[in-house]
Amino acid sequence: MSFEEKRRRLILSLKEEGYILSEKVEKAMLSVPRELFVPKEYRDLAYTDRPLPIGHGQTISAPSIVAYMTELLKVDIGHKVLEVGTGSGYQAAILAEIVAPKDVPKEKWGHVYTVERIPQLAEYAKENLRKTGYLDRVTIIIGDGTEGFKDEAPYDRIIVTAAAPKVPEPLIRQLKPGGIMIIPVGSMWEQSLIIVEKSSDGKVTIKKDIEVLFVPLVGKYGWKEGS
Ligand code: SAM
Repeated sequence: MSFEEKRRRLILSLKEEGYILSEKVEKAMLSVPRELFVPKEYRDLAYTDRPLPIGHGQTISAPSIVAYMTELLKVDIGHKVLEVGTGSGYQAAILAEIVAPKDVPKEKWGHVYTVERIPQLAEYAKENLRKTGYLDRVTIIIGDGTEGFKDEAPYDRIIVTAAAPKVPEPLIRQLKPGGIMIIPVGSMWEQSLIIVEKSSDGKVTIKKDIEVLFVPLVGKYGWKEGS
């Protein structure tokens, strides 16, 4: 079976299971070739719904959680998005498909800024995004994403794809009024997805969603290295 056919079947089952709710997330998931974001030896597993190793003790998240977090983020054309935890670059590509679709004039495009702390993974993601055609809509920054990325702040949306002990303060500050942030928060072994909303007058509300399991967010406002 071709990768395209495997992708179509996986996306159909993610729709049936309720992870994909909107046309825009479905379209993005159908457009991004996940097989080109996983290491060669795992390509045949690219369309199974599970996380896969990408080296350096890190993973590309399962397609169901990527779809679900993207739905929660309510991302739209023109949005400026910050992702913390680039990993393979797959989630960044999904976001780029939504904020800057190729069939919309460039003036209307948004942009994805994505921060990765492990330089070799940032390089890996850059290569993946280059060969799949997303580097015009995604900028990769090497650094500690718990501090956000001040140069382009504030952001319409922030998504964190590693687990934090609490919501990093700089990320709350870098969220626009009217903005939404999705972040897994909890212990090293179990977390809940947290939805942070900032109202137009700057009031911050926090809601708990489903239980999840992510690799740790390591940095100044995350877990300490080696903890
Ligand atoms: N979104 C990724 C994808 O689509 O492949 C998967 C992310 S992986 C589950 C978590 C990533 O967060 C790892 O690559 C890890 O190195 C990175 N990370 C952990 N702490 C970080 C920090 N403080 N700043 C930036 N990246 C961080």
